[in-house]
Amino acid sequence: MMKLIVDVALKELSLRRAGEVGLDELDDGATISLGDKTLVLTTDSHTVKPLFFPGGDIGRLAVAGTVNDLAVMGARPLAMACAAVLEEGFLVEDFRKICQSIDTAAQEAKVTLITGYTKEMERGSLDGAILNTTGIGVTETLVTDHGLKPGNKIIVTGTIGDHGVTILAHREGISVDVDLRSDVAPLWETVETALKVGGVTAMKDPTRGGLAAALNDMASKANVGILVKEADIPILPAVRSMSEMLGIDPLQITNEGKAIIGVESERCDGVLAAIRKSKYGKNACVIGEVTTDYRGDVMLETVVGGRRLLDAPVGDPAPRIC
Ligand code: MG
Repeated sequence: MMKLIVDVALKELSLRRAGEVGLDELDDGATISLGDKTLVLTTDSHTVKPLFFPGGDIGRLAVAGTVNDLAVMGARPLAMACAAVLEEGFLVEDFRKICQSIDTAAQEAKVTLITGYTKEMERGSLDGAILNTTGIGVTETLVTDHGLKPGNKIIVTGTIGDHGVTILAHREGISVDVDLRSDVAPLWETVETALKVGGVTAMKDPTRGGLAAALNDMASKANVGILVKEADIPILPAVRSMSEMLGIDPLQITNEGKAIIGVESERCDGVLAAIRKSKYGKNACVIGEVTTDYRGDVMLETVVGGRRLLDAPVGDPAPRIC
């Protein structure tokens, strides 16, 4: 997918920037300079299967995904647009549930849905429903995913792997433990509390490709190394055991309610304490630090004390998950 974007889209599109961050940065969103304000724009399509899953549904996912891409650029969400593509015969009652879920998540995130569109496609041409969302926010503290500096600490705002592992377990028909549910949640409150302390240098939400993909992206874009301690990565016991059963790596799978935050080491304790007071940050941890060694790569110090490179997943280990 990245090759498709870089080799085709970026080569064919000539107008790619309206502010400091544009298409070339391949960040979570892009900026628009407007007078003394910096707006942030982001868009995503949501194709999760099944549409309803433990802990959420495609509606909550669409709002959280959009809010979180704005949040990790330091932007307070202002408004959203949502386009729904529905398969002919899609149940009205299911559409109502999705709308209610969008509304609940939007109220929680204090973001208004001010425009949208619905299209129908003939039966069999898509699987139920797809939502495309666009979000706009405003930032006073622009944060990118390429700002890490050697010496920075890496914070993750909570447990890893919850969303992807829950969806896969549910899809495989494995009876889902009560402890196993998606983490899908809007993160602006959590991120804002970190920004208020100060010292944040880079952020990213570890969605597709999970923690491994996000950390590798941050390391290569900033041309730094990241050393992560496996023992410090928070993973719920239910997620760990289900991952082993399914044969997947929880570090390589989608999260929908987590952020990775790079922070200056002298501000780390303050930022961590602030995040832990927020609704979705209670399990936040420092998982590693930024180094001048192995630039562009992520090194994992394993539980038994060895070291190995933590690679981004090749291809998509789990399609239709977000
Ligand atoms: Mg993102």
